[in-house]
Amino acid sequence: MTTPEKVIREDVRSIAAYHVPGAEGMVKLDAMENPYGLPDELRREIAALAACAPINRYPDPGALALKARLRSAMQIPEGFDILLGNGSDEIIQIVVLASARAGAVIMAPEPTFVVYRMAAGAANVRFVGVPLEADFALDPERFLAAMTEHKPSVVFLAYPNNPSGNLFPEEAVVRILAAAPGLVVIDEAYHAFAGRTFMGLLERWPNLLVMRTVSKLGLAGLRLGYAVARPGWMREFEKLRLPYNIGVLTQRLGERLLAHHGVLEAQAAAIRTERAHLASRLARVAGVTPFPSDANFILLRVPDARRVFEGLKRRNVLVKNLHGSHALLENCLRVTVGTAQENLQFIAALEAALAENRANRVVLGADRCHLPPCANHK
Ligand code: PMP
Repeated sequence: MTTPEKVIREDVRSIAAYHVPGAEGMVKLDAMENPYGLPDELRREIAALAACAPINRYPDPGALALKARLRSAMQIPEGFDILLGNGSDEIIQIVVLASARAGAVIMAPEPTFVVYRMAAGAANVRFVGVPLEADFALDPERFLAAMTEHKPSVVFLAYPNNPSGNLFPEEAVVRILAAAPGLVVIDEAYHAFAGRTFMGLLERWPNLLVMRTVSKLGLAGLRLGYAVARPGWMREFEKLRLPYNIGVLTQRLGERLLAHHGVLEAQAAAIRTERAHLASRLARVAGVTPFPSDANFILLRVPDARRVFEGLKRRNVLVKNLHGSHALLENCLRVTVGTAQENLQFIAALEAALAENRANRVVLGADRCHLPPCANHK
C-alpha cells in the first residue's frame, strides 16, 4: 500500500507546519494586522465592485490595472517591473525556488522573518543565518565575512526587521549590496511605519529587489505582495509564478482600495502615534524591556515569557511568544500595535500577568535563596 512515508520527502515529514493559533474572541495582537476597519463609504464602494466581479472567469493573468494602480500609489519608478504574489510570502518562495541551483545558499541575518528559512528548506537550498548582536543590531563586518565565506545567491534583509522592529543602518545595507555576489532582497513589509525605502536605489544597484506587501497597511485578507526590480530578474521570476495567482477579487478590490491609498496611510500614521504611546507605557512597566521599533509591533523582554504569554491569553489577549525560536529571543514576546483601547487592555493584562507571576513565586518560594548566606551579607 502506498503511504505518505514512501512518497513524501523525509525533510518535509520531519518539519512542523507553520502554526497559526486560534484567536476567536481575543484581542488579536499577534500578527501585525492593522486594527482599524475601512470607512463605511469605502466598504460600500468595494461591496458594489465585488457584486459585479466576474467570478465565473479567471482573473487577468497580468493584473495590469492593479499593477498600474500600484505603480502610481507606491511611486514605483519607470523602467522597473512589478511581480505580484499571493502575499509577499509567495514572492519569497518564487525567488528562492528560481535560485535553487545545486550548492546555492540563501542568507539572512537572524533572528528574522522565518519564511526565508522555511522557503529555503522547501526548495532544498542551504540557509545560512548570520546572528545579529544582542540588541538586534547588524554587524556589517560579520555579515560581509559570512558572504565571502558562503557566496549566497540571495540575501534577504527585512527593513525594518521582524521580530526585532529595528531598521538596519542604510550604510550597512549599501555595503551588503555592494559586496553581494547575488541578488539582495530588501523586504519592506513594514514600510508604512518606517517611512524609509530602498526603492530610490534600484537605479544604482542592479542586484536589488525591493519587496513589499499591502498586508500591514490594512489589507492582510486580500493576500497581495509586490516586488520591484529590473526586467531581467522579473522575466525569470515570472516563469515560476503560477498563472492566476492573484484572484479576481484581490485584483479589483485591491485596485480600488489603493486608489484611496490616503485612507490607509492615515491609519498607518495613527498606528505610528499609538506605537509611541505603547512604547512609553511599556518602558514604565517594571521588569519589562521594550526594544525600539520602526514597525507596527514592539518586541519586549519579560521575566518569564511562557508564563506571561499564558497569563495574557487567560485575559483574552493574544501576542506572539518568541521564546525558544532563537537564542537572542530568550523570554521575548512580540506585540502588534492595536487601537488605543486594545493597547490599554494589553498593558492592563500584562501588568496583571506579571503581578500574578510575582505572587506565585513568593508562594512557591522560588525567590528564596538556597545558597549559604554571603559573608558580607548580614
Ligand atoms: N516579510 C516580513 C518581514 C513579514 O513580517 C511578513 C509577514 N509577517 C511578510 C513578509 C509576509 O507578508 P504577506 O505574505 O502577508 O505579504
